[in-house]
Amino acid sequence: MPDEQLVLHRRQKVPSMSESVRIVDVTPRDGLQNEPNPVSTQDKLVLIQKLVASGIKHIQATSFVHPKWVPQLADAEAVSAQLHRFPGVQFSALIPNLRGYERAVAAGIRHLEFVVAASDTFNRKNLNRSKSESLQLLADVGKKAERDSVVLRVGFSTCFHCPFEGRISARALLSAVRSSRELGTWRAALCDTDGMAFPDQITEALVLLKEELKLAPGELALHFHDTYGRALANTLAGLKEGVREFDATAAGLGGCPYCPGASGNVATEDLVAFLDGMGYETGIDLEKLLDAAQFASRFSSRPYQGHLLRAKRAGACGVTPTAAKAEVS
Ligand code: MG
Repeated sequence: MPDEQLVLHRRQKVPSMSESVRIVDVTPRDGLQNEPNPVSTQDKLVLIQKLVASGIKHIQATSFVHPKWVPQLADAEAVSAQLHRFPGVQFSALIPNLRGYERAVAAGIRHLEFVVAASDTFNRKNLNRSKSESLQLLADVGKKAERDSVVLRVGFSTCFHCPFEGRISARALLSAVRSSRELGTWRAALCDTDGMAFPDQITEALVLLKEELKLAPGELALHFHDTYGRALANTLAGLKEGVREFDATAAGLGGCPYCPGASGNVATEDLVAFLDGMGYETGIDLEKLLDAAQFASRFSSRPYQGHLLRAKRAGACGVTPTAAKAEVS
């Protein structure tokens, strides 16, 4: 029987706003990459299976980076080899360089996210090279991707704030995105890596990118971390500017090794409930998504980071509707 409170999350449709929003669940990659306790390949596949069962069609499954830097994702090939079990789902993987590209393509992944930071200092700390060196690599990767008919998304980290450089201006972000767009017309994912962004920054950046680079909203995705509880407010700012693709992790897993104290991504279940409540279509079953979130939360070294599962655990999602009670009496 459907959980009544979860049904309530789906009731508040605003027909004029009813549109489809793409959720990219990045739990197996961003959610797990920073977790200290090893998660088995089998458990990752069970997690993916639960996400797929909820209706999620876009999943970032892993990352092809050197296992020395991200040991949690050292099984990228083993995970990729099993993704054929989930037909109809678009799997992507993160790559930082040409070696990652070659490994990912050899493993059968056809959608790749090339990561580069808007902040040069963060790029050096995270990827051990300058931003311009990463962009040169992007040019090389882009040529191969075109040859191989591989779809690229460029993931820009620290778009709004850098733990080393502070606030990133909209102009600085524009410069980074412009540099990549001069190399190819790949879609851009704007990431608030340490969760420091505010909605006005999101609006300012999106308006500027659309105006200066003539980007359509469909060429942009947003990736919010929820360190300070601003991710949904920032999501609303993105929605208002027309963005319809958002990353999230089940149970809000994740973090950043270079952002002490940074919590994970916005929880997928919170994001879906938020979108459902405002009348956006996600195609995701919240009950089944909560099952995935419950499973994902076992792999977190921290307390649960989202809202919806906590409310459900506390019983807030199990209430009998008032109208039904009234009918009985
Ligand atoms: Mg992230």
